Amino acid sequence: MSKIAIYPGSFDPVTLGHIDLIKRASKIFDQVIVSVAINVAKRPLFSIEERVEMLKATTKGIKGVKVETFDGLVTEYAKRKKVNVLIRGLRMLSDFEYEFQMAWTNRRIAETVETVFLMPSEHYSFLSSTLLKEAASLGADISSFVPRFVEKRLKERLKK
Ligand code: ADP
Repeated sequence: MSKIAIYPGSFDPVTLGHIDLIKRASKIFDQVIVSVAINVAKRPLFSIEERVEMLKATTKGIKGVKVETFDGLVTEYAKRKKVNVLIRGLRMLSDFEYEFQMAWTNRRIAETVETVFLMPSEHYSFLSSTLLKEAASLGADISSFVPRFVEKRLKERLKK
């Protein structure tokens, strides 16, 4: 039986931290479904289509990776797809509380769905999409945090 995991998130936009995690997950699982959440409360900078496109373009060389979107509860989506592993990233202690709370909530909702936490390389352990957008809007050099393709898109978007 093949091992499949879902990696859900906003990916607004995808960073090298996300990609680091996807690569690690692809070594453990036969298939990693990177799923962009449609109904996030945060006001995204990029549309769902743009986020999916950037993810597809930057993960196409990684074995077993698929990009999708989902709406509503991630546990319901996982159950529909008959997948029982969710991947989340842990950067610093500050992620822990939120991620722990979410994993517990998801476990209450769906006992069969397990959350697996992965740590990125220390190079990306402080990197978030939010901080990245802030730095980019202030004119910082973000080339070591995002793939080239995303850097270009981000610069174009922030010019408008
Ligand atoms: P969400 O809005 O669901 O938190 P994100 O796209 O911000 O969506 O993050 C998705 C997941 O990826 C989260 O578990 C987050 O902790 C993780 N993540 C984000 N940035 C990094 C990074 N630099 N290194 C490792 N994990 C990360």
